Amino acid sequence: MISWDELIPRLRKLYAEMDAAYQSAAGEASFSCDGCDGVTCCTVDVTLHTFAEMAYLRRGFNTLDMAGQLEVLGRCEEMISAKIGDPDGEQYRGLVCVLNLDGLCRLYEYRPMICRLAGIPHMFVRPDGTSLESGGCHKFEREFRSDRPDLMIDRTFFYREMAEIEIGIVRAQGKRTATRTVSETLGLEDPDNLLP
Ligand code: SF4
Repeated sequence: MISWDELIPRLRKLYAEMDAAYQSAAGEASFSCDGCDGVTCCTVDVTLHTFAEMAYLRRGFNTLDMAGQLEVLGRCEEMISAKIGDPDGEQYRGLVCVLNLDGLCRLYEYRPMICRLAGIPHMFVRPDGTSLESGGCHKFEREFRSDRPDLMIDRTFFYREMAEIEIGIVRAQGKRTATRTVSETLGLEDPDNLLP
């Protein structure tokens, strides 16, 4: 049975490796988020695919004081209602992540993998051996791509390691975790058993 004592250091190590890869690539391209208000990247209710990241984000949420938690929960309620109303509608799609406050992530240290690696072009090799590539954010493509046309982060290791961590949890719990967005992760009661 995987425990918090095992999960947290492993996840933190993986996140640190992602951050290092990101900073290295950003340094190579002299790329930074300066000039962006953060809202552009955070205009989305990010979907989480693993119990590990959901549990870690919830752990971060628990570090907020009561006023902070209530404010985030209010935003979660609004986000979840909008999604229920019309998941493809402008009202839902146009909302900013419940954790983005004045352009900054409120749980920056606990933010999920997708947020840590966003902005710089990337590729990854799928289990069947084929690879996928994707471009960077608008700012990268507009201002940095021409100088560094080949720069990209290889996410393969990060995805595999995250999957390994998750497999340990799935084995321990005997079931997979349904995907949930950030607002659902924080705003809905957690039906999964918490780790010991
Ligand atoms: S979790 Fe943080 S970095 Fe990720 S979309 Fe939300 S506010 Fe932005």
